[in-house]
Amino acid sequence: MIKEIIHDVHFLSQKSTPATSADIQAVRDLKATFIANSDRAAGLAANMIGIHKRIIVFGLGKLPVMMINPEIIAQDTPYQTTEGCLSLDGVRPTQRFKHITVKFQNEQFQWQTQDFTDLIAEVIQHEIDHCNGILI
Ligand SMILES: [Zn+2]
Repeated sequence: MIKEIIHDVHFLSQKSTPATSADIQAVRDLKATFIANSDRAAGLAANMIGIHKRIIVFGLGKLPVMMINPEIIAQDTPYQTTEGCLSLDGVRPTQRFKHITVKFQNEQFQWQTQDFTDLIAEVIQHEIDHCNGILI
């Protein structure tokens, strides 16, 4: 089900808790909401649709990729950039890492570890920050 995007900064500043297979509907709702907003969002985190669970989604080409309980286990090469956020107005400066290694569960709740670089890595870092209640 497509959900409304939350703009309440107090709500978005709370840390999300780990997701389990009981949260499969939240995974589906986040995917549907991302697809509905994919023309203006590079990624979304579950708290942006009102669910404080550690679930994110981002676009790889046209394909939505879901990550459940994502955790950055390695990162290198910091740089400064500016980002926007569907929940916030305007763009803001932030620091990101050029290369990251992420451990996460896929939509079938299987653990995987994968490396990402550049813009995709930046989007994943932004969405994992959302899971930790951190806004740009
Ligand atoms: Zn955001």
